[in-house]
Amino acid sequence: MSHSLHEADSLTESCERCETDTPHEVSIEIRTEGSGENAEFSREPYRVTTCSSCGHEVATRMNDR
Ligand SMILES: [Zn+2]
Repeated sequence: MSHSLHEADSLTESCERCETDTPHEVSIEIRTEGSGENAEFSREPYRVTTCSSCGHEVATRMNDR
């Protein structure tokens, strides 16, 4: 019954640092954008992949226009 909600997805993607395909952990993060004068903060979901081999992290905005 108790199955952890936080299940880390992992998949194989190419890592630019390793220069090969490595297992990556994938998570979704909400990051707040906008700073300075603009009081309007927008929260954008990012897909963050972390290389399990070297720890290199790549964040990609999900709703790119
Ligand atoms: Zn790597």
